[in-house]
Amino acid sequence: MKKQTGLAPRRILCVFPKYSPSFGTFEYAYPLTDGVKAFMPPQGLLLIAAALPDGWSVRFIDENIRAATVDDFEWAEVVFVSGMHIQRKQINDICRRAHRYGRVTALGGPSVSACPDYYPEFDYLHIGELGDATDDLFKRLAGDVSRPQKQMVLTTHERLAMVEFPLPAYELIPLRKYFLGSIQFSSGCPYQCEFCDIPGLYGRNPRLKSPQQVTAELDKMVANGLSGAVYFVDDNFIGNRRAVLELLPHLVEWQERNGYAVQFACEATLNIAKRPEILQLMHDAFFLTVFCGIETPDPNALKAMSKEHNMMVPILEGVKTLNSYGLEVVSGIILGLDTDTDESGEGILDFIDQSQIPLLTINLLQALPKTPLWDRLARAGRLIENTDRDSNVDFLLPYEQVVETWRDCMGRAYTPEKMFARFQHQIEHTYPNRIHPPPTKQRLTTANIKRGLTMMAKIIWHAGVRGDYRREFWKFAWPRLKAGDVERFISCSLVAHHLITFARGASSGRQTASYYSDKPGEPLPQAAE
Ligand code: SF4
Repeated sequence: MKKQTGLAPRRILCVFPKYSPSFGTFEYAYPLTDGVKAFMPPQGLLLIAAALPDGWSVRFIDENIRAATVDDFEWAEVVFVSGMHIQRKQINDICRRAHRYGRVTALGGPSVSACPDYYPEFDYLHIGELGDATDDLFKRLAGDVSRPQKQMVLTTHERLAMVEFPLPAYELIPLRKYFLGSIQFSSGCPYQCEFCDIPGLYGRNPRLKSPQQVTAELDKMVANGLSGAVYFVDDNFIGNRRAVLELLPHLVEWQERNGYAVQFACEATLNIAKRPEILQLMHDAFFLTVFCGIETPDPNALKAMSKEHNMMVPILEGVKTLNSYGLEVVSGIILGLDTDTDESGEGILDFIDQSQIPLLTINLLQALPKTPLWDRLARAGRLIENTDRDSNVDFLLPYEQVVETWRDCMGRAYTPEKMFARFQHQIEHTYPNRIHPPPTKQRLTTANIKRGLTMMAKIIWHAGVRGDYRREFWKFAWPRLKAGDVERFISCSLVAHHLITFARGASSGRQTASYYSDKPGEPLPQAAE
């Protein structure tokens, strides 16, 4: 991307809001690590930071790691914010803090692009992706950094091609303080599941970066201290199958060249199980996990939500196929669908037992703006604005029954016995099918060894000594340690600790039942140093 030049220099403070605690962001695992404080680096804001005009200074604060200070706001001329719906309260809070110091504020990202009216106090709204609105915003700010009389809304009509995206500004963040690294190859998804806002926001024809951009980003992340896992945050990694087949050999080659320095994970539709040529290359590129939105094991429900592509192979068979390539499946499940019955909870628990998927995020249905579901429920008068509820949907089953089913599923699916049994299944049936890269110098760095030893000690202390599930923990962990399987000992124990702890809060009513709920959940622990 050609940077704008010749504009008056500005000082930009980029602030990424704190997340509300959630099942899928692993906060309870952080105290067992060597100082992880946040889930994934904020791709969108890092991209904007990299795209700033020449000569502009930038400070980057992820409030999941530390809060922006008085000094940060006083230093800045402009405050940039980005975020998702679940961060709405925190996004607005950053705006108020910036205004206290008289700073002009600009908001971009997925939440404001779908719902500009959530953010009446920001001075500039940037709607849509990087493009002509971004150029316009930079020019306006170069001309004047006083707060405009009324809110200015700038909308991208011409998006910048992803092949012209600059490399995100990874140098501005402490990558080792993130649970996972993140990277984006494509944007958009060809399907139209009823509840999903991706096609409405990013289109049905996936846009793509080049393989060279992706490997350059990986180089940059590793140069800035990344190790461990890198998650492809693409809405659907196989949204354009031809493109992913072109990308994967580059990833295989990158891994060979870099001593398998990282492991990969991604999100993809379950019909990936029909593509052995893709699965084989993912196996070779050291992909270990695929998040599949299975949503429900009920075929009628899948049809009703326009997710028939999940039935292109029988679901359990699809999961087994992925496992046979060494890929552990992570799954999303939704409760509160119109097709739910009194038996839906038991059906989900049976599915978990049969699939042996260790990690399933079970959420209540939430209607997001810009989705067919929102439109249908709005027409039927079934949207409820009440922040005391766990969902904005007026379910067909009684609300209390749906929430109770959720609590029951969480409580029973994540007992320590069940949790470790599912990991044991993966150890026997999935992990042996992975490649086993040699202990290369890129993997056995001093920093990685120190990190591993710290995590081992903390896991043993928190789960094996102080944990009230220590009996089940040692039953699982001891054979791993005896076999010298330190990597699996660490990865399974970390995830299990978070899920067991979170699920206990959920089943006793201390956590909210929807990832998107406005209702506050129980505060989670700060990561230990
Ligand atoms: S397949 Fe996934 S990303 Fe695509 S529309 Fe459905 S839920 Fe959204």
